[in-house]
Amino acid sequence: MATEKKIVLVTGGSGLVGNGIRLAMKERPHLQRDDEEWIFLSSKDADLMDKQATLGLFEKLKPTYVIHLAALVGGLFRNLKYNLDFYRNNTIINDNVLHACKEFGVKKLVSCLSTCIFPDKTTYPIDETMVHNGPPHDSNFGYSFAKRMIDVLNRAYHKQHGCNFTAVIPTNVFGPYDNFNLEDGHVLPGLIHKVYKAKKEGSDFTVWGTGSPLRQFIYSLDLGELMIWTLRSYPEIDPIILSVGEEDEVSIKQAAEMVVEAMDFKGNVVYDTSKSDGQHKKTASNAKLRKYCPDFKFTDTRTAIKDTVDWFEKNIETVRF
Ligand code: NAP
Ligand code: GDP
Repeated sequence: MATEKKIVLVTGGSGLVGNGIRLAMKERPHLQRDDEEWIFLSSKDADLMDKQATLGLFEKLKPTYVIHLAALVGGLFRNLKYNLDFYRNNTIINDNVLHACKEFGVKKLVSCLSTCIFPDKTTYPIDETMVHNGPPHDSNFGYSFAKRMIDVLNRAYHKQHGCNFTAVIPTNVFGPYDNFNLEDGHVLPGLIHKVYKAKKEGSDFTVWGTGSPLRQFIYSLDLGELMIWTLRSYPEIDPIILSVGEEDEVSIKQAAEMVVEAMDFKGNVVYDTSKSDGQHKKTASNAKLRKYCPDFKFTDTRTAIKDTVDWFEKNIETVRF
């Protein structure tokens, strides 16, 4: 007798991380399973800020499992401008989605936090126990407090209703289908966009800030694979950091140099120090991940940046600018 397929719903499935999951499943055969049907949603399927629309979507699709990615997302400069929107939109979306998961008996939910929500003043490396230890960096307090409340909701839904809701904490993500808009996006897509423009116009390549801040970058397909593992195998309600090791942290300057190399840019590289550096670092420990997945191999950052640049150049007509 054929077993019924489990429906895996991915909210925010049309974005960077959603496509990372989709591409990982497509390109890494060991992740494929016959007993699952994956549905990747965009805001066109339902506005998750609307409670009735969210409940209607769950009623229609009846998911067994949910990966919740949908959020207002942006790099440092978008966060600096719209802290209120980041707080309100994300709080409303998260409340609607987690409530719908409980109402429709979803067996497991994995939501997405971020390492930028950790306390600004902290000891390093940061680990999963420190999410609520002190105020986040002022540049993105709206996004950070909204995200931290997912962890509160997960614990409360578990305690009061026995729900199996957990969360992952990724570091800076990059890859195909990123937002390459200069004002709104994150640093790597921003740098790729700027080198593309500088090559086209014969102008300088301007990196914002001093270039000294440090970041751990994770390739979206690696994150996708680890999120699939989280959904299928991670047993805790407490969140887990999904990150490359501390030794793989790079400066913004080094990241800019990797983009220059990947795009074979021969012009001048300049630093606009009038622009904010944001948080200097948010070095995270991946010891918990390594305890569960000691053998997972991350894609080398140089290779992943080259793959992202190739994707960007091939899809230049349709990329998000
Ligand atoms: P993204 O590329 O901007 O994608 C955002 C997704 O959310 C899109 O699918 C978008 O749909 C959907 N969405 C936004 N508002 C919505 C609404 N009101 N109703 C329904 N869907 C809505 O973002 P991402 O980088 O993939 O981020 C995914 C998750 O990872 C987020 O929770 C984010 O906080 C987390 N995260 C990201 C990073 C990073 O570096 N990017 C790092 C750590 C954690 P449309 O395509 O239709 O607009
Ligand atoms: P964050 O990791 O949350 O701070 O977000 P971002 O991905 O936006 O990275 C911000 C860091 O990259 C800051 O130190 C910025 O000064 C630096 N940066 C350099 N050039 C750019 C750029 O073109 N776009 C963005 N978003 N950041 C840049």
